[in-house]
Amino acid sequence: MEKGKLIVFSAPSGSGKTTIVRHLLQQEELKLDFSISAASRNKRPNEVHGKDYYFISANEFKSHIENNDFVEWEEVYTNNFYGTLKSELERIWAQGKSVIFDIDVIGGLNIKKQFPEQTLAIFVQPPSIEEMERRLRGRQTETEEKIKERVAKAEKEMQYKTDFDTILINDDLDVAKVDAYKLVSDFVK
Ligand code: 5GP
Repeated sequence: MEKGKLIVFSAPSGSGKTTIVRHLLQQEELKLDFSISAASRNKRPNEVHGKDYYFISANEFKSHIENNDFVEWEEVYTNNFYGTLKSELERIWAQGKSVIFDIDVIGGLNIKKQFPEQTLAIFVQPPSIEEMERRLRGRQTETEEKIKERVAKAEKEMQYKTDFDTILINDDLDVAKVDAYKLVSDFVK
């Protein structure tokens, strides 16, 4: 397997990491491509299969686990499985591009552990848990119960931030985008 670079963006849900990752993907000179994860949760109305995620059933997910198809996978939320397929890395590296990930904190650290030299692991820090909760509510994609679960998980995830190569503060999205660009362009050069 030809090996290229990996850029991990991890953060609690609602930290703004998805927006930052999308912004970087638009910068063609960085030559990035998004690692499309497999997920067993339901598709949200604005999402596209094969673009945001490969939406698969829990059973399909389990057969991928059995076939050893994943670089990493996790039950991120109760009964919701997410994982990075080995075939994604191969697909992106074959194009001479670097892989960019939008994955949870444990998954991100797992990638870093498997590919320590090739990976830049960035933790995106939201201004506060309260602000993160406000963003999650504003998105209107989750039930109250799910929001509570995500907030509880976020509090735990914040404890891992010092294990990352770098922490990107997202108080102001425009500033965070510029900072993220600088980090990534220095790394892929
Ligand atoms: P959401 O349901 O909001 O799209 O994502 C829930 C969480 O799962 C987010 O923190 C997201 O980054 C994470 N996630 C997405 N794909 C993967 C993956 O392949 N592996 C792991 N470990 N987490 C993922």
